[in-house]
Amino acid sequence: MSSSHDVVIIGAGPGGSTAANLLAAAGHDVVVVERAVFPRFHVGESLLPADLPLLERLGVELDGRSFQFKGGAEFIDERSGDCVTYLFRDALDGTPDHAWQVERAVFDKLLADAATSRGAVIRYGEAVRTVSFDDDAVRVESDAGSLRARYLIDASGQDALLARELGAVEPIRDLGRAAVFAHYEGLSPEVQAELGAQGNVKVFMIEDGWIWAIPLVGGRLSVGVIKWRGKIDEALHERAVAASPILRRLTRGTTRRPLRILGNFSFRNRRAVGPRYICIGDAACFLDPVFSSGISLAMLGAESVTDLLSCGLERGDEADPELMQPHIERMESAYGSFEQLIRRFYHSKMIHNLFFASEQDPELRRGLISVLAGDVWRDDNRFQALLTASKRRGRPRVASC
Ligand SMILES: Cc1cc2nc3c(=O)[nH]c(=O)nc-3n(C[C@H](O)[C@H](O)[C@H](O)COP(=O)(O)OP(=O)(O)OC[C@H]3O[C@@H](n4cnc5c(N)ncnc54)[C@H](O)[C@@H]3O)c2cc1C
Repeated sequence: MSSSHDVVIIGAGPGGSTAANLLAAAGHDVVVVERAVFPRFHVGESLLPADLPLLERLGVELDGRSFQFKGGAEFIDERSGDCVTYLFRDALDGTPDHAWQVERAVFDKLLADAATSRGAVIRYGEAVRTVSFDDDAVRVESDAGSLRARYLIDASGQDALLARELGAVEPIRDLGRAAVFAHYEGLSPEVQAELGAQGNVKVFMIEDGWIWAIPLVGGRLSVGVIKWRGKIDEALHERAVAASPILRRLTRGTTRRPLRILGNFSFRNRRAVGPRYICIGDAACFLDPVFSSGISLAMLGAESVTDLLSCGLERGDEADPELMQPHIERMESAYGSFEQLIRRFYHSKMIHNLFFASEQDPELRRGLISVLAGDVWRDDNRFQALLTASKRRGRPRVASC
């Protein structure tokens, strides 16, 4: 039997749950089809300050009992001895001054429950198999039956269901290609106090890649190694941690949970929008996670989609392909800024020189921190203007910072 709705959403990750929450709050009939049963594990644990106003709009409150306060980001090159800390409170005026480090099983369930409490229906443990479109509806076949809707949001994450059906996945080969990661449990009280004081994410620069260290509540540390070339396996993780004096010290006496490996995660979806559908979050695009932008771009993208879609559904012009144009432009500008920063991180000494420069122009430094905070839609950030201008002109102008 087929049920009929305003909007069907594939996936209840941060993107899908945000969209479901806002559409339901606006009075639309929304169903989310989620393959997993929550809570479920997910990689990606570091939020950005730019999420804070949206979390408030969603009715989601994070606190220090369940989540770790995050004051900023540290970049460390143990080979040269360079180390720099960027605190979000030093960003441009108006950028929120902190974020959170989250265990995704807990965070994603909180977001999904908030959507349910606003009136969205989430069908857990049900996978979408195929999607088809006709003139006045979209038809979704799941392993539990079929659904019809006026509009489809694909928030299926790295599965990128529609992109794969449409043959529209375009891998980005020169950004991070694979990761190996694990949680360490039982940090000593001294290490917990040290990491918990600012709750920063630590990014260690290594040959052809980087390592993240993210403190989590409950005396845990998430450590992952990312490479853009070369082999990724469990031994790489062990070698990388053993080679880092700081990580050796932080993880001494802890228990490491099993390692997990993920690959081929940097890609674009060449057909992320069409009549009666849009792909959001990772299902639309995913860039290397070095600046922790994935969850923010998924949630803030969902917000801009739902604001447009809600009006489209009320007017009855939701199938107009032009409806999502403002959203597409907004996301292109955000992905563009992060992509420029990430490319420079991997493929030039520029980021190294910029991050560790002994003297930085104070205004550019504040602008850099605002970008690191995910506050990428403002027109007064000179650092961001230089970053994106260098893309347009094909010249690396940020070097002159
Ligand atoms: C190694 C690595 C480290 C990362 N670290 C960070 C970080 O520190 N900070 C950060 O912000 N981001 C990070 N990310 C990225 C972040 O995890 C994602 O950007 C984020 O989860 C995207 O949210 P989403 O809602 O688009 O997709 P997801 O969170 O992946 O949610 C998609 C949901 O869709 C469901 N689904 C998939 N297929 C189907 C189907 N056929 N039917 C029904 N349901 C389906 C899945 O079960 C899942 O629950 C990292 C990514 C990687 C690879």
